[in-house]
Amino acid sequence: MTAQVVTLGCRLNTFESEAMKAAARAAGHDDLVIVNTCAVTAEAVRQARQTIRRLKRENPERRIVVTGCAAQTEPETFAAMGEVAQVIGNDVKLKPETWQGLVPPATGFDAAGLERVIVNDIMSIKETAGHLIDGLEGHVRAFIQVQNGCDHRCTFCIIPFGRGNSRSVPMGEVVAQVSRLVASGYREVVLTGVDLTSYGADLPGAPKLGTLVKAILDHASGLERLRISSIDSIEADDLLVRLLKSEARLMPHLHLSLQAGDNLILKRMKRRHTREDAIRFCADLRTARPDFVFGADLIAGFPTETDDMFENSLRLVEECGLTFLHVFPYSPRPGTPAARMPQVAKPVIKARAAALRAAGSAALTRHLSSRIGHEGMLLAERGGIGRLDDFTPVRIGEGFEPGSLMRFRITGQDGTHLLGEPMMQIAAE
Ligand code: SF4
Repeated sequence: MTAQVVTLGCRLNTFESEAMKAAARAAGHDDLVIVNTCAVTAEAVRQARQTIRRLKRENPERRIVVTGCAAQTEPETFAAMGEVAQVIGNDVKLKPETWQGLVPPATGFDAAGLERVIVNDIMSIKETAGHLIDGLEGHVRAFIQVQNGCDHRCTFCIIPFGRGNSRSVPMGEVVAQVSRLVASGYREVVLTGVDLTSYGADLPGAPKLGTLVKAILDHASGLERLRISSIDSIEADDLLVRLLKSEARLMPHLHLSLQAGDNLILKRMKRRHTREDAIRFCADLRTARPDFVFGADLIAGFPTETDDMFENSLRLVEECGLTFLHVFPYSPRPGTPAARMPQVAKPVIKARAAALRAAGSAALTRHLSSRIGHEGMLLAERGGIGRLDDFTPVRIGEGFEPGSLMRFRITGQDGTHLLGEPMMQIAAE
């Protein structure tokens, strides 16, 4: 029996779960199940509670420790659950001493007297140290955390209250981490953070995300594919845009935090861009790389959104040429300004989310059809799937080594995936 981690939410959580698992195992906590939660929507918190109850039913002998953004923003909710042994905040979850401080089960020590809730003021955190890991169990691409927290206060968002203000991992540590992962066989590395484009603002000399990406491409020898997870396009610096246009090792795929397509709603969300900025950003990158693929987060039914305003979001899918949509039916988060605004009726929110998803599926089908007859490099994953450099999934069948790179000819599509045949396997450099 060894310590297990169940990860909910974002790629940042995936990276942190790996570091926590290593720390819990090193501290001898073989009986733990750590649940790394998300708080982005009310539904995410409900799922966390449901997961905890199921895990305790399935593992009555194990201790359940809850951490992550939901534990940070509402520790009392989890402390009140009988299934939960301990609640640990985002500020201390990556500190080895946090896990060393937990009493190992072998001692037979009665944990009843222990501090069950270790959650502090997340806004008091000033720095984020890199946590060097050697890999991510079960993952063919390596996610690394380069930034955490957020200085913005979008009116619908609870994330800053779960993750604190923005802070960056020093460039040297990031480059060392990338080199370490490449050395342990990873062909693709993904940069993650909460608000990646605010990278470096807290570091000496205030390097930008573009500076970091250039340093990685210049100094992490052997790196074949670098992917940037999700960005706020309006804050992309000039060097980053230049590299995205010109650097083949930088994957032609970005997930954009757009949230809406109507300028008045964007204003009420306290976003920093307009719909025209988003359209211009996508078109600009496509001047250099016509096959650039964009995904986006879009919220349906933000408070005060009228039918006409929603139409502007719907039209943005085509105007930006979006392919992979993450649609969020608006859900009020306690303590956020948007929760106090006049709410849109639930059935309307639901209908708008369905309309956005339908627009997303139609866009995906158009994209998949446009790739038939092309060739592309893909990274093999598990389960008979691989992904092209633009992140499009391809059904590749069994027998391919997960994590290997291959050239594929695209022969068809099935509405959600491309179909193809291998041309040749690319040996690691
Ligand atoms: S930029 Fe806005 S939406 Fe993104 S984490 Fe920060 S506050 Fe939330």
